[in-house]
Amino acid sequence: MSNNSDDSDEFTSGRAEAPSESIVCVDCGGRAHLLSHPPEDGVWQIGEVVAYRCSDCRDRWDIVLAPEGE
Ligand SMILES: [Zn+2]
Repeated sequence: MSNNSDDSDEFTSGRAEAPSESIVCVDCGGRAHLLSHPPEDGVWQIGEVVAYRCSDCRDRWDIVLAPEGE
């Protein structure tokens, strides 16, 4: 019986889906633009937080990056 690792980690490490340049603001339906700059190597990491700012209501949205394919 082996019990050396389980899969309960909240975040696996690795490459995340690249965030969109803009998203739809949940509050006002306007455009929220990506504030965060891409990493120098172009590889976004799972669990990284990127910020968006809505150009209409000025709300800020923080998005946690998900693994590729989700
Ligand atoms: Zn908005």
